[in-house]
Formats: sequence, structure tokens, C-alpha cells
Amino acid sequence: MADFVGAVDQGTTSTRFMIFDHGGNEVGRHQLEHEQILPQAGWVEHNPIEIWDRTVSVIRTAMQKANLQASDLAALGITNQRETTVVWNRRTGRPYYNAIVWQDTRTDRIASALDRDGRGDVIRQKAGLPPATYFSGGKIQWILENVDGVREAAERGEAVFGNTDSWLLWHLTGGVDGGNHITDVTNASRTMLMNLETLEWDDELLSFFNIPRQMLPEIRPSSDPNTYGMAHAPGPLGGDVPLTGDLGDQQAAMFGQVCFAPGEAKNTYGTGNFMLLNTGTELVRSNNGLLTTVCYKFGDAAPVYALEGSIAVTGSAVQWLRDQLHIINAASESETLAASVPDSGGVCFVPAFSGLFAPYWRSDARGAIVGLSRFNTDAHIARATLESICYQSRDVVEAMAQDSGVTLDVLKVDGGITVNELCMQIQADVLGVAVSRPVVAETTALGAAYAAGLAVGFWKSTDELRENWNESRRWQPEWNDEQRADGYGRWKKAVQRTLDWVD
Ligand code: ADP
Repeated sequence: MADFVGAVDQGTTSTRFMIFDHGGNEVGRHQLEHEQILPQAGWVEHNPIEIWDRTVSVIRTAMQKANLQASDLAALGITNQRETTVVWNRRTGRPYYNAIVWQDTRTDRIASALDRDGRGDVIRQKAGLPPATYFSGGKIQWILENVDGVREAAERGEAVFGNTDSWLLWHLTGGVDGGNHITDVTNASRTMLMNLETLEWDDELLSFFNIPRQMLPEIRPSSDPNTYGMAHAPGPLGGDVPLTGDLGDQQAAMFGQVCFAPGEAKNTYGTGNFMLLNTGTELVRSNNGLLTTVCYKFGDAAPVYALEGSIAVTGSAVQWLRDQLHIINAASESETLAASVPDSGGVCFVPAFSGLFAPYWRSDARGAIVGLSRFNTDAHIARATLESICYQSRDVVEAMAQDSGVTLDVLKVDGGITVNELCMQIQADVLGVAVSRPVVAETTALGAAYAAGLAVGFWKSTDELRENWNESRRWQPEWNDEQRADGYGRWKKAVQRTLDWVD
């Protein structure tokens, strides 16, 4: 009898494998970072081979550490950084180019051209997305246009596209020996190529990017009793395990936070920040700069949709303090440094390194640090960085309230930054609502495990999952209304500066 479910979480900064028991408790994990390749300003790439190698290592090591075998796993789920684009040759297994990461802005001309002749509105209507560098469509087009031989190979059906979920599923199910080329509805909903109503690739959308249909994966439910295939031996697991869960990382976090009812929301703090609001089977279109996206689909059931506020740069601004400014040695030091001053000393930082995503959608915006005086130190910059994470989230919360009428009593949070207690306190202060973190902060991996386990009956229903959710920590707002209004007013002025710069 298999007592556990495993999940691969292929994130932007690292890949991890986690194993959970029936209570949703972690029983094993291993995690490895991969290189962030930054060839020029605005470009961000990953090496897909490195990502597959890391995936093999983390699965093997986590299983060994937990002393488990393939037969101990009832099912396997995958969750992944969404939008990041891999194009590879299905005959040789070789990628044609590095993975172009979701934060990469090289396709800004492709994106802005779409809005000049009305095609942008068709994309908004059919795909629920504003044309932007963020999504996969333009990245696939860029590879087709800039890498020799890819278009011909795509037309022959040899060059295929996938986000990192498809890339890993293809490898796990056999790779060059007949691996399955599959994705799920949530990942497909981030490409600008899928029709949100039919949940199929849309010929008109494909024509905007000149993408041959045969290079796209089959779109399947996020939790699929029919399985995407078996993770075969010889593979990292050393035995056969059914692959039955596949979700983009933010949708997986919705699962992990058990946001299964309309009106339930969560905010995930990782490389970027992503707030999603479950809107049920209703497809809500935003008037305030949010995305409409698929939240999940269980087998044959109707899809559940979400409104999403995506923020490109939050944790990666902390990485910037570490790797470019060298004012901290580790991400966790951002907390001690920021806590050494009572406030940001008038400094406001808008980390628009990849343009501004929700609710502004300005691919051309670039970052700004404003309000500097000679009094300011690295501690003020660190504090302003944490504040920028929280103010960007407030922008999204405001847009959600306007679009949906839902006002939050409490914000459920998760992700790597939520270990930063100061940042979470600032978030409660900036929003004026309590912030709540669950015991299992790895909601992304947990969500993928839940999706996989539900499909094979390891968990019988979402009610069973709800019982597994427990709060570990809650932060209450401490600022008064005037402090909150002043701070947010300064933030809005600073955002305007980043837009003025490029106007
Ligand atoms: P992802 O899934 O996007 O790879 P994670 O959820 O693993 O991201 O979070 C990693 C991010 O969190 C990194 O960008 C890192 O800079 C940031 N981070 C990690 N620990 C802290 C901390 N203590 N304070 C602030 N930021 C942190």
C-alpha cells in the first residue's frame, strides 16, 4: 500500500522534490538551485538540461533521504514556473535554445506590436491576458524567428514547445523513447494561445504568432484520473509511478492553500508575487489590470477560473540586493538589515526591472529609487525593498476589490519570502488586514501533490484537504489609517516616476 504522494516543484530559482503523507505533512525533500543566465539587459534564461539533471537529482536524493521506493508513492504531481519557454527536438531530446524565462523582456516589440492593430483585444477576449512579454506566445515566436532550422523542424513535427512541466513530463514518461508531450489547462492558459472558453489551442491566436499547431502539447486536466503516463523505470524513481497532477505554480499554491470556493484568495511571495482569487466556474474579465486564468480542472468536471494579479519582481529584488549591490550576503539578511532602521528614511524603491506587471502592464517601465538624501544607508534601501514587495501587493489587492467586490478579512500567504517576519508585518500594516501563513509554507509542492493524489483516490475530496490546512502564524496591522494612506500615496507617486521616465 502506497502511503505517500510525491511532487516536483520546478521553480524559477530552484527545483525541489517533496513527499507528503495523507495528512499533508512533509516526509521528505531535496532542493537544488539552477543558474540564472543573464546574457544582456532584460534577458533571463535557464538551461533546460540543467533543470532536468537537477530534477533527477532532487527526486533521487529526497527518496533516499526518506528511505522510500517507487512503490511507496501512490502518484506523482508536477508544478512549475509558468510561461518559461522550452523548444526542443523530440527525436534527439536537445533544446534548440535556452529556456526563455517568464521575466525576460526581449519580446517587448512583439508584445507592443500586437496592440497597434486590434490583435491585442482579441487576445484579451479569447485568452484573458493583455499582450505582454510575460507570456509564452511571443517567446516561442522569438525562437522560431531567431534560431536556425527551428521553424522547419517545427513544421515537420520534430521541434516541440513546452513550459517546464511539459519538458519534465516528456522526460519522465520516456523522453526520446516515446515520452508524452502534454501540458495542463492552467499552464496552457498562460501562453496567449489557448481559448479560455473551449480550453483548446486557438487557430486565430496561433496565427498572430505564426506558430505551427503541431509543436504544441496536448492540453489535459490539472488533476487527471486518466494519467499523463507513468514515470518509468529506469528513471529517477527506479519504478513505475502514475503521473496524475500538473499545475502552474500559482494555481498549485491555490490548491495547497485549499482555495476551492469562489471568493477564496492567496498571495504567493517568491521570485515574483502572485495573488489569485477563485471565481468559480464563472469567467470574470478584469477592468482593472488583472488576468483571467484557469485555476484548475478536475478530470471531466467544468473548469474553475481565477482572477490573478502578477508582480514580476519581489524576491528577485532581494536577490538583486545580494548579487548586484552586495549589501547582504543572503536573502535572510534583508530582514536584519531592514530591521536596523525604524522606516525607509523617505526612500521609495520601485523594482520595475522587467517592466511593471499588474495592474499597470507596462513592459517598458524600468526601476527607480526615489527620495534619496545623504542620510540614507543600505539599511533604508533594504527596508524600501521589503516595502516595495508589500506595496505592489496592495496595488493588486485594490484591483481585485474593484473587479470582484470581494474585500479580504485576512490574506493567506505562502512562498519563500514569508519566512521574513518583518516583511509580513509590513504587509499587514500596508493593507490594514491580517496576514496568515499556514504550517506547510510549501503550498506549491503540496498543491501539486494534492492534485495528483485526488486523481488516484489517495484523497477522496477537497473537504479532506481542507482538514489538513492549519495556521502557523498571523500578523495583525499596527499602523493607523493616516500612516497607511501617507505610505501608499508616496508609493503611487514613485510608480508614476518609473512611468514618466519612459514616456
Ligand atoms: P520561486 O518558487 O519563485 O523560485 P521561492 O518561493 O523559493 O521562489 O522564494 C525564493 C525567493 O525568496 C528568492 O527570490 C529570495 O530572494 C527570496 N527570499 C528567500 N528568503 C528570504 C528572506 N528571508 N527575506 C526576503 N526574501 C527572501
